[in-house]
Amino acid sequence: MGVQVLEEYNGGRAVLYCSTTDWAFGPVFASTDHAQSFLTWLYTDPRGLTDSQLESKYSQWQSVTKLCAFCSLPFQPAEATSADQLCETCYDWQQQARDMEVNP
Ligand SMILES: [Zn+2]
Repeated sequence: MGVQVLEEYNGGRAVLYCSTTDWAFGPVFASTDHAQSFLTWLYTDPRGLTDSQLESKYSQWQSVTKLCAFCSLPFQPAEATSADQLCETCYDWQQQARDMEVNP
């Protein structure tokens, strides 16, 4: 029960819906990953927001979200880090690979 992500049949776009009332709402996301990223970033139940509040949050999320240069997943870069082209997972992975090159 709660907010779920409904994905297009061919694995494309995604929308949010309430599994209690079977009611879809909010923006159409580019993918399930985008919808999950938005829910994580939002950190509150989107059903508690009006359409207008949700729209405002969505555009706020879009403005702080980038796509990882390596895995293409959406992420919110930390301010002023050299990692702002890569998500945290890919950045850590790259750092580990670099450390292994330096200390074989
Ligand atoms: Zn990545």
